Amino acid sequence: MNISITKVDQLKEKTPADQLGFGKVFTDHMFLMDWSSEEGWHDARIVPFGRIDLHPACTALHYGSEIFEGLKAYRTESGEVQLFRPIENIKRMNRSAERLCLPTIPEDMFMEILDTFVGMEQDWTPSEPATSLYIRPFMFGNDETLGVHAVHHALFMIILSPVGTYYKEGLNPVKIMIEDQDVRAVRGGTGEAKCGGNYAASNRAGERAEKQGYSQVLWLDGVEQKYIEEVGAMNVMFKIAGEVVTPMLTGSILPGITRKSCLEILRKEGYKVSERRISVDELDAAMANGTLEEAWGTGTAAVVSPIGELMYKGRKYIVNNNEIGEVTQHLYDTMTGIQWGKIEDSYGWIHKLQ
Ligand SMILES: *Cc1c(COP(=O)(O)O)cnc(C)c1O
Repeated sequence: MNISITKVDQLKEKTPADQLGFGKVFTDHMFLMDWSSEEGWHDARIVPFGRIDLHPACTALHYGSEIFEGLKAYRTESGEVQLFRPIENIKRMNRSAERLCLPTIPEDMFMEILDTFVGMEQDWTPSEPATSLYIRPFMFGNDETLGVHAVHHALFMIILSPVGTYYKEGLNPVKIMIEDQDVRAVRGGTGEAKCGGNYAASNRAGERAEKQGYSQVLWLDGVEQKYIEEVGAMNVMFKIAGEVVTPMLTGSILPGITRKSCLEILRKEGYKVSERRISVDELDAAMANGTLEEAWGTGTAAVVSPIGELMYKGRKYIVNNNEIGEVTQHLYDTMTGIQWGKIEDSYGWIHKLQ
């Protein structure tokens, strides 16, 4: 494919790793590509990072037709830059696109864009422990009329952000509030699509939780508010009486790539694992009788994030003494070991930049 490249006159100075935070610093360039129902994908271009010009009637601003992805480039000890299962993000973005009636992107074209663009910006991949270059592809409906109809114009973009560790506290356990009022998603809705709208609907509960000192919300299903779904921007796993359990994908849960990878690691290593419905009552009982041994979230941003405290209807439970558990630590070590090239990738998950 043809990607036109306009370079900046002067490269920015790289921010020191300890001042990166998450998603605050961006690289020198950005990628854009237009789509229209007449022309399909066209005008793939890399240009200096900066503001974009939108019509005030832009579809996404009014009707929320927006989807995104999140993956990372990791710098290995030998200095190479590599991606983790990018094909999974590509496939998921296309599934999200289908759900929101946005155009899909041919997989090989998407991969070529990632290789070209991330390759061009790879100097921005930091090398300090636990740092990476976060890759944010996103797409939105870009028609210039207020009529509600299928999208005829869309814009696909990728921006890149060098990131430090996701949580300020590092791998310390987080406090999570089980949400019993708002719901994030319902079956048949957009819960399994990675779209901005899901986040907009989550903000109110997130804010309420934050005010009470909790870092994220654990969502229950949208119909009965009875079954565990996922945490904010992470999937959730529990170790209950020796078995790792995680909510099965029922259509309202985001199918996380970290979730999938953790399950594959655990199954290959012979752990007892099950994907099934977990009711909040079952969790409540496991917390009360001490069989809840570990709880953690999984997601690209934080990899795994131990849960040290769970609160449900005013009752607080401390999980595993508020310490990171054995399985949580093992998953963190294995996943990050593969991602940063410190342990051998026997799964074929690593994609070296082409
Ligand atoms: C992105 C995301 C996740 C985690 O998915 P990964 O592919 O593991 O990063 C979980 N839940 C929601 C709502 C998400 O948007």
